[in-house]
Amino acid sequence: MYDMVIIGSGAAGLSAALYAGRARLNVLVIEKMGVTGSQIIYTDKVDNYLGFPLLSGYELINKFREHVGDLAEFISGDVTSVSKKEDIFKIQLKENGGRDKREVKAKTVIVATGAIHRKLKVPGEEKFTGRGVSYCATCDGAFYKSKDVVVAGGGDTALSEALYLSNICNKVYLVHRRGQLRGSKAYQDKVFAADNIEFVGNAVIGEIIGDERVEGIEYHDKVSGYTKSISADGVFIAVGMQPETDFVKEVAELDEYGYIEAGEDCVTNVRGLFAAGDVRKKPLRQLACAVSDGAVCVKSAEDYISRNIL
Ligand SMILES: Cc1cc2nc3c(=O)[nH]c(=O)nc-3n(C[C@H](O)[C@H](O)[C@H](O)COP(=O)(O)OP(=O)(O)OC[C@H]3O[C@@H](n4cnc5c(N)ncnc54)[C@H](O)[C@@H]3O)c2cc1C
Repeated sequence: MYDMVIIGSGAAGLSAALYAGRARLNVLVIEKMGVTGSQIIYTDKVDNYLGFPLLSGYELINKFREHVGDLAEFISGDVTSVSKKEDIFKIQLKENGGRDKREVKAKTVIVATGAIHRKLKVPGEEKFTGRGVSYCATCDGAFYKSKDVVVAGGGDTALSEALYLSNICNKVYLVHRRGQLRGSKAYQDKVFAADNIEFVGNAVIGEIIGDERVEGIEYHDKVSGYTKSISADGVFIAVGMQPETDFVKEVAELDEYGYIEAGEDCVTNVRGLFAAGDVRKKPLRQLACAVSDGAVCVKSAEDYISRNIL
């Protein structure tokens, strides 16, 4: 049995692994993306992580992983449930693409599973995923060199995606259902300064159209009341994130959006179960906060293990 199982090897999970390993806890990290996890790999440049101004997300998370080294055991697996009986946690996971099932036991569990891209839920989205519909400009942007694309969304992620694509594509339509963008002022300034990004506000996308591949979108113009269309070769969907908490929803208390209810000490309603990083209900979801949570939750877990408090 492990002292601690950490689910997710993003910034929070790796920070927790570092602290737990140095505290000489017997730690297992389970990551479903394989060797390198984290949503940060989808960005080509991390500008605001102190001390590392020029790295891509992929480079940064690999540095985190190298730093942990063999302080923890790592396995690739998709955790499907967590349950607790008589102070022992049972963690069920699928390995090898779902072919094999396995169970591990632990005294404590840290949920550090972050969040995934939310779907737009319009006709054409499923059909054209991988054929013009994408959720990651860094991954797929190069396929749209000198082409016209739509970015759907108005928050930081959408703005960051639009800016990235503006360096590759001929034209980027930033389509948002509200009249004003929600993203940070710094991003907005750059978006409005880019001469090949056109902001299309008050536009509710109704359908992604095409035959074999994406050919554009149809949207409802809330100001005129008309249905309009934009021709485009690609549609990048950036309409927010959804926490990865399905596997734990039977035991942990979640908020209305599915984030785990836990305070700054990362303590949840289940003794011995802690939440760290983007998966936790909190005002700001950034690397620095996730790394901080990773350290704090190990302190809480150590208190629970050694002194049985919390
Ligand atoms: C496009 C983009 C750009 C960003 N840019 C910045 C930036 O410049 N600066 C900044 O500070 N932040 C940025 N962020 C936010 C930052 O990526 C997150 O705040 C941070 O990665 C959160 O870390 P985390 O460890 O909580 O979650 P994540 O890094 O998302 O890691 C969670 C891990 O858990 C794994 N997982 C999920 N479910 C399971 C399961 N059931 N079983 C096993 N493993 C599972 C996932 O595969 C993932 O690897 C950006 C985010 C995006 C999407």
